Amino acid sequence: MSGDKQNRSRIEPAQLRWDADTPVSGQFDDIYFNKDGGHAETEHVFLDGNRLRERFASLEAPIFSIAETGFGTGLNFLCARALWLKLAPADACLHFVSVEKYPLRPGDLARALAHWPEFSNGSEQLLAQYPPRAAGFHRLELDDGRVRLTLMFGDAIDSYSQLEARVDAWFLDGFAPAKNPDMWQPELFSQIARLSRPGTTLATFTAAGFVRRGLQAVGFRMEKAPGFGRKREMLRGAFGESERLLSLKPWFDLPESASRPASVLVIGGGLAGCSAAHSLARRGIRVQLIEQADVLASGGSGNRQGALYAKLPVKPTHQGKFHGSGLHYSHHLAKRLLGDDDWAACGLLQLALNEKELNRQQQLIDEAYYPAELVHAVSAAEAGTLAGLPIEQSGLFFELGGWISPPALCRALVDHPLIEVHTDTRIGQLQRKTSEGWIALGTDGTQLAADAVVIANASAAQTFEQSRHLPLKPIRGQVTHAPAPDSLPDLKTVVCGDGYIAPSTGGTYAFGATFDLRDDSSDIRNQDHQRNLDTLSGTLPALARALATEPLEGRVGFRCSTPDYLPIIGPLPVRDRFLEDYARLRNDRKWRFDTAPTHHPGLYISVGHGSKGLLTCPLGGELLAAVICAEPLPLPRDIVDALNPARFIIKNLIRGSI
Ligand code: SAM
Repeated sequence: MSGDKQNRSRIEPAQLRWDADTPVSGQFDDIYFNKDGGHAETEHVFLDGNRLRERFASLEAPIFSIAETGFGTGLNFLCARALWLKLAPADACLHFVSVEKYPLRPGDLARALAHWPEFSNGSEQLLAQYPPRAAGFHRLELDDGRVRLTLMFGDAIDSYSQLEARVDAWFLDGFAPAKNPDMWQPELFSQIARLSRPGTTLATFTAAGFVRRGLQAVGFRMEKAPGFGRKREMLRGAFGESERLLSLKPWFDLPESASRPASVLVIGGGLAGCSAAHSLARRGIRVQLIEQADVLASGGSGNRQGALYAKLPVKPTHQGKFHGSGLHYSHHLAKRLLGDDDWAACGLLQLALNEKELNRQQQLIDEAYYPAELVHAVSAAEAGTLAGLPIEQSGLFFELGGWISPPALCRALVDHPLIEVHTDTRIGQLQRKTSEGWIALGTDGTQLAADAVVIANASAAQTFEQSRHLPLKPIRGQVTHAPAPDSLPDLKTVVCGDGYIAPSTGGTYAFGATFDLRDDSSDIRNQDHQRNLDTLSGTLPALARALATEPLEGRVGFRCSTPDYLPIIGPLPVRDRFLEDYARLRNDRKWRFDTAPTHHPGLYISVGHGSKGLLTCPLGGELLAAVICAEPLPLPRDIVDALNPARFIIKNLIRGSI
């Protein structure tokens, strides 16, 4: 990462001055909203400027997407949401995407929003899910899925160049061009055009000539309109046609489905499959979820407790950013779906067990890419207080962390009238029908049909001809269960070192886990219990000693991992066509291709979540549903590419190894 790029990954909070309860930006010396007419101004400029009243009321599509520059206090968002809830069809979804370079601190946001009691319901939902101030995309869901908000923390130009969406209406906010010239740049206008379609509209409070000309230059028909209050003029525009730019890495381009499927088969009843089913059903799609075992969560997702745990790298890599966004998303999903017996937002300690980890943690804090709301340093004494048991090492504390029962989450995810679960059904083959759609053939003769399929059965994805080429490896893991000893106080937080232990549930501790490649036995072994106790004694020696005297039980599961430790989420490529179409990569990796990628139509996959499925499956399910339904994606394009199922074919072509 270049130094410049790294700096852009550090997100500073908004420095506010308060002018009789109206927020004023210290960075830009401009007001966030007009305290007398802020609400009316938003209605005039952005809602009426984009004709949203008429468009919401007569909407026929299942979604409507608005994108904004400058989230600020979220006033525009709350105004658009209120209009949406009043006028739009109840089964449609408003997608609101916004970007913020200097996010307000939660306390400032609450104070600013207190201005608008008419929006208190929306403000409460926004404040309850407001993400930690970390660079990247954060997905929030309001009003039971009628409204989705993608908040991108970062610079507008950088963030919009990472967005994949078809925007219906733009709100160009973001302080006056004279006060914020860096944002109002031709590059921003090019991104706006890339994300627009014929008929996309745009409105902005400014009437600056260079803004009008800049937007005209990228394909908008612009007109001046009367401004709000004392402002004489504002600008409105509609997008015409523009030339589509060729993608630099066409192999990662996503299929543009003309219409969303009415029905989907999901193969696999673990976290990946249940999450995808949930995200699809919440978009009105009928789902049949197929599981070979007699209950859900029988494989890698079957442990009684899993740690909600992001191991963040010092500098945010793709994996680190994905984990950070996933932690926020899964935390709020669990809050929405689970009761106190099935999860706890008790926080998570990651202890520094050796010099190397201590240095790494120190560096992570010094480099400050992550805000304290996400992760902060604690001394050994503080760690002991948080845990409720003596701890000898310092570490990092994740407030959003905790534990979740993966089987309970799986059950809650599929508890939806549009999801039908078929257990005891093993699919042997997937066949594309000559007409649209797919048939899944069960090994017992079952035949299930749907418009699209999501493969989510971990390493067993290799049994299907279409996904056989994926490099998936099962990794054996044994977890140990032991009765909580009376002699010690209860553990109060999840503690991780080389392994993890969660606070006890139902009087039982679960801790682990072993990690063994090339071992496909599901036997529970005493020596593996011993390994788990040894690992535990590195962090909580007194607890490990006490548990060693208890009767030990356990469970074996298999994580499904990939060579780059990132999951595989997206449309399935047709391998032979990729080898033909991109063969030139073997000799020339810089060759400019103009061939769109060929995917199995309507076939998608979500596998390879390793031991981080609690973080990556729910957001991965949202990503798949967004791809399938042509909605704004919840993750930046560089991460979506890093998860793309075609990446191994492309890497191997470049290496010349296939
Ligand atoms: N739409 C907001 C609302 O409803 O409260 C008001 C927006 S305020 C007038 C402008 C916002 O744009 C500020 O929060 C500012 O930090 C943000 N901003 C300015 N330049 C930016 C940039 N280059 N990238 C992202 N956000 C930016």
